Amino acid sequence: MSSHKNIPHPWKIIEEGFDPKRVKATESIFSLGNGAMGQRANFEEQYSGETFQGNYIGGVYYPDKTKVGWWKNGYPEYFAKVLNAPNWTGIDVWINGTPLDLFLCKSVTHFRRELNMQQGIYTRTFQVEMGDETQLEITVKRFLSMDIGELGVIQYQIKSLNRDCEIVFDSFIDGGIVNQDSNWDDPFWNTTGNEIDHGFSCLHSHTLKTNFEVCTYAAVELFDTENNLIATHPEGSVSGKKIHLKHGQYLQKGKSCTLLKYGGYVNKMNYPNTPLDLRAKEIVAQAKMAGFDTLVQNQQAAWKSVWDTADIVITGDVQAQQAIRFNIFQLNQTYNGKDARLNIGPKGFTGEKYGGSTYWDTEAYCLPFYMATKAQAVARNLLKYRYDQLDKAIENAEKLGFSCGAALYPMVTMNGEECHNEWEITFEEIHRNGAIAFAIFNYVRYTGDTEYIPEMGLEVLIGIARFWAQRVNFSHDKNKYVILGVTGPNEYENNVNNNWYTNKIAQWCLTYAVAQLQRTENDYPDDFHRICEKTTLNLNEAKKWEEIAGKMYFPFDTQQGVFLQQDGFLDKTIHPARDIPPEQRPINQHWSWDRILRSPFIKQADVLQGFYFFEDDFSNENLRKHFEYYEPLTVHESSLSPCIHAVLASRLDEMEAAYAFYLRTSRLDLDDYNKEVEEGLHITSMAGTWLSIVEGFGGMRVSNGKITFNPKLPIAWEALQFKVIFRGKIHSVRVDRKGHTVHIEAR
Ligand code: BGC
Repeated sequence: MSSHKNIPHPWKIIEEGFDPKRVKATESIFSLGNGAMGQRANFEEQYSGETFQGNYIGGVYYPDKTKVGWWKNGYPEYFAKVLNAPNWTGIDVWINGTPLDLFLCKSVTHFRRELNMQQGIYTRTFQVEMGDETQLEITVKRFLSMDIGELGVIQYQIKSLNRDCEIVFDSFIDGGIVNQDSNWDDPFWNTTGNEIDHGFSCLHSHTLKTNFEVCTYAAVELFDTENNLIATHPEGSVSGKKIHLKHGQYLQKGKSCTLLKYGGYVNKMNYPNTPLDLRAKEIVAQAKMAGFDTLVQNQQAAWKSVWDTADIVITGDVQAQQAIRFNIFQLNQTYNGKDARLNIGPKGFTGEKYGGSTYWDTEAYCLPFYMATKAQAVARNLLKYRYDQLDKAIENAEKLGFSCGAALYPMVTMNGEECHNEWEITFEEIHRNGAIAFAIFNYVRYTGDTEYIPEMGLEVLIGIARFWAQRVNFSHDKNKYVILGVTGPNEYENNVNNNWYTNKIAQWCLTYAVAQLQRTENDYPDDFHRICEKTTLNLNEAKKWEEIAGKMYFPFDTQQGVFLQQDGFLDKTIHPARDIPPEQRPINQHWSWDRILRSPFIKQADVLQGFYFFEDDFSNENLRKHFEYYEPLTVHESSLSPCIHAVLASRLDEMEAAYAFYLRTSRLDLDDYNKEVEEGLHITSMAGTWLSIVEGFGGMRVSNGKITFNPKLPIAWEALQFKVIFRGKIHSVRVDRKGHTVHIEAR
């Protein structure tokens, strides 16, 4: 068996060679999604080697009972998890009575996986020799339709190379799927029925507790070597939780036959008043009517319209080119902004890790990408998601002892309820609240959609400001407001006092909320009164917010002229991360937690995250001082770290460093830097990759309603081209060694 090889290509991800040790990793890399559903690239046919089966449906989750060693009051009872859904992609293949199984065949050659990102189509080709010496060539194409959220298509073609043989295609739906990360091995699904009807099959099931009703369907057609439909109905059967549609076919040497399988999920969330199986049958009829070639053309057209605004072209560096397209491709597979109930999970539809779907990653890292490459409604939907969960954020704060409409958004959530249960994060990593307010500011600054604030944003800002006003306390000793017992973005420090970033964003939230109250009162008086009444806002509250913001405490070292990450930071033995022996990296896999906490090492941008968000507050000189102080201490063990450093390094003209950070963020999964890609992809950090290019190398900034670019090209690149949609116009930016141009056209 040959080992695998990655082939650089500007539009494709290509892996050649079959290596059973790489199967789980490549299942992640070649994952497919269409915003409504997604799946890991599991083989269709039986595989007895190591694999991680994964199919996921947007918005469908299960509240898994929390498991912790030492229960703390305030922990959520449940952790809402992305659910591993029934598998509709299975096609077991029997050759002369023996199952095709790449782990067991005599030989596997010419194995190649290819993900065509331009067209949204994944192809797997290989040749096998079976135990009885039958040699076959197999080509499988698969895609999830970007037009019809419920439709996936698989074309499975087998050619016999050396002799006649008997083939049986056993296409199935498997309802017996479990989550690997289930806390108590509870079943998450209840299957209530199935149906088999002339080449159509479906499984009715609903999630336990949350009662999401889903119809998983599959339909098959068989074609001969000339691509004629072979007019036989498959034989249907049910075994346990599997529904089978079987076709037998005698295949002559040199001839091929092709099974076409349509499948996917119809979800009650989207069809509350239609029988789900009826909708599934309509989709199948529509797909069959169109035929495979037309569906492929539609898929290509849908992806073309994505790439028309989202593509980034890098000339002279194919690795960097492939990487940015991979990141953009995955972001579009994960979220399309059509449904405000959905969000962007750190692993998207590519694995189970991180359970719930929404983290501060969405607001802090992902929003700018969707804002600049898609219609304004998409970014607005991301904001609306949090607006719709405001009541839950208020309840969440109440559970922790806050009152009077204070809102604490969860660290991890699906439906607005907190899912996370490590006290130092659940209760203390409260800076997340700030990112949600910052996203409102960022959205309004970028789009000019000033109506968002009176319509929805202001209520969120009030809830968040109320939280900070209750979370601070006045230190008579310092004559300042302080924030005690927090975890900043750097999760390698817990329960610290006065994390600079947290204090900074809290101060900013209070000031911004006051400004938006005043602006709404002036510009939208009716809304202002409605909101005051709804939130029972007392204008003395706003005065208090101003007072707190004006007297916020920030730890600072006068000797070195730097803000300190938190109180007492200088008590540590400060030495650079390059002193850590390579065999002890990543430290989170080698060191005990207390050792990490005592060390000066920083997981991801913390003080520097504040310099990134609030860059206008700091001179370049000040940024440099902080960058030079904190970056050497940073181990970048969060995927969200290199991108922020890339943007800041570009601002400082440190182009070599910026480029190194860029490669680290953009090829994190493709090159598996963290040796964990088999768990799934780092979707949210992919938006950070986009930031590294557009805000970093492209130098894009928005201020006072204007967009500006101050590009700086990494040495390795000949040219860079990207587009952003800004206030209804497409700005196409081209940068090369001679300079840059910005071409503006109406959308
Ligand atoms: C990071 C968090 C992030 C989470 C999900 C953690 O490792 O420290 O900032 O929200 O991953 O991406």
